[in-house]
Amino acid sequence: MTTTAIATYRCPACGRTFPADRPRWCCDCRSHLNLAPGRGLARGEIAVGEASLWRYAGALSLRGPPRISLGEGWTPLVRRDWQGAEACFKLESQMPTGSFKDRGTAVMINHLLEVGVGAIHEDSSGNAGASIATYAAASGIPCCIYVPATAPPGKLVQIAASGVEVRVITGTRQAVSEAALAAAGESFYASHNWQPHFIEGTKTLAFELWEQLGFRVPDNILVPTGYGSNILGLDRGFDELELSGEITARPRLFAVQAANCAALAAAWVAGNDRFVPFAAAPTIADGIAAPKPVRVAEVLSALRRSKGGVVAVPEEEIAPALAALGRLGLFVEPTAATAGAALTRLLRDGTIRPDQTTVVVLTGSGLKAAERVGELLGIGVRL
Ligand SMILES: [Zn+2]
Repeated sequence: MTTTAIATYRCPACGRTFPADRPRWCCDCRSHLNLAPGRGLARGEIAVGEASLWRYAGALSLRGPPRISLGEGWTPLVRRDWQGAEACFKLESQMPTGSFKDRGTAVMINHLLEVGVGAIHEDSSGNAGASIATYAAASGIPCCIYVPATAPPGKLVQIAASGVEVRVITGTRQAVSEAALAAAGESFYASHNWQPHFIEGTKTLAFELWEQLGFRVPDNILVPTGYGSNILGLDRGFDELELSGEITARPRLFAVQAANCAALAAAWVAGNDRFVPFAAAPTIADGIAAPKPVRVAEVLSALRRSKGGVVAVPEEEIAPALAALGRLGLFVEPTAATAGAALTRLLRDGTIRPDQTTVVVLTGSGLKAAERVGELLGIGVRL
């Protein structure tokens, strides 16, 4: 562990900077903040005996070793045939709380512990809430999670089982965010969508893929995307590997959205770098139903720079992908299955060739939504 300097937050709207030496979730101008570029990662700096994301601790913007870990990261990368092409499935579903969120949460919570946070709160449609509730409980931080009344029951149980306070908000997902924003004076708003240290954690996904592929980058990475923390983390991680001279090529990043709620796709199609109004409908991919992402311009810029794009998956293509994944031994929640559906589309239209190395990020476990999976697959088991 060699990182001891205090990291710097920079505001993309007004340019102000702040030392990341106390809990802070936004700029004084109310914009989100970003961490200044990291110093990079060379392969010799990897703590190879550490079977978690902390093998990359030297490249993280933290002041000391982690105070809390549940063994997050270093998830399996397995190869399976997908419609005649070999795909590498990254099983982020095998994290401690069953979703990729634990990467971001673990680094964010360790940062907040370093700078002395008190009580925290967060809003989430499920997986991030479960992750933050779990890590807060494990760290002894008082925590309250705001959830939509429509969140899957299993996810609510997972959140509540950690012993944190759960506040159920009726109305849209945006109403839940606004309720949490309004509580920002009561306790620290530890939002995974706002906190730069959450993206600092998700960047370890880039390091892991590079290391697990034999210190090579794949050609394509498909990621189920709501707010875009994995896309931003991948972009940041590959930036750092490039900075260190470890890589010269970059993978194409594809953000996969449910067509029924596709804010990034709407902006992408409009050729716009900002949020554009769009019609949202319910989707079974509840984990990526983000009506108003915080970092639209940055996510779209990362996708453009990678020469990738946005794929909007129609609702009727999700269940077949879910079924196909299950038969490959990959039991995931409907949100994660959108990435399989997107790969089918990109193979069919020739955007991705079968001989390329393609990573499909499976973001959440099927155990998160077993009842819903049963309904979608027509499995006649009394649950
Ligand atoms: Zn600002």
